[in-house]
Amino acid sequence: MLKDQLLSVQEHLAMACQTAGRKPSDVTLIAVSKTKPVEMLQEIYDEGIRDFGENKVQELVEKYEVMPQDIRWHLIGHLQTNKVKYIVDKVYMIHGVDSFKLAKEISKEAVKHQTEVNILIQVNIAKEASKFGVYEEDAVQLVEDVAKLPGIRIKGLMTIAPYVENAEENRQFFKKMKQLSVDIIHKNIDNVCMDCISMGMTGDYMIAIEEGATCIRVGTAIFGERNYSVENTITKQQGE
Ligand SMILES: *Cc1c(COP(=O)(O)O)cnc(C)c1O
Repeated sequence: MLKDQLLSVQEHLAMACQTAGRKPSDVTLIAVSKTKPVEMLQEIYDEGIRDFGENKVQELVEKYEVMPQDIRWHLIGHLQTNKVKYIVDKVYMIHGVDSFKLAKEISKEAVKHQTEVNILIQVNIAKEASKFGVYEEDAVQLVEDVAKLPGIRIKGLMTIAPYVENAEENRQFFKKMKQLSVDIIHKNIDNVCMDCISMGMTGDYMIAIEEGATCIRVGTAIFGERNYSVENTITKQQGE
């Protein structure tokens, strides 16, 4: 069953790429496996998926210990500075960097572990009070500051678009993200690459792809509904 759901997402990904004149291989599907048991992750892994997204440090670490070593783990949730040390040597990418303070901590721990960490700058593109992320007008400054830190590689931008009934409503925000990424490229900042735009979830990933997403983060469409009584949600108030 998971196999069919995954296949359906992959087909929709390809359709959106076709609409946009893009190659499906240019879009990474991150399977968002938060709250789901490792048996389900393994099923998806067996179908060839290697990118998994988790939003809680402890859950990521637990799954990291038991799942195959070639998985690329993406921390997609809000990260508290005191938890950075548990994951710098385990994650492939940290998606939610939205302050210099957090970046400095990641840098410190990366240097300590003699590693380099890929990060994305999280942008609160719709300026929602409930969401983390820098406003777009503050993004360039943060990128410039973070780029100077050792042990960190800025790979691009990430956003969580508003929850909407009609995904078309988010197209404007995805367009803004793409434009912001182009603007930053034009600044030619040392040690900054903007290859990655992480945007699009179950409800709106096709629109996100049409507007330039290179990473989509899809949970529900692959794994089914989550049990919200045990989940930390993605909003500020209820975040970890
Ligand atoms: C949970 C989560 C997702 C996946 O959401 P779905 O709607 O289940 O696809 C994507 N991004 C972030 C940051 C999340 O926390």
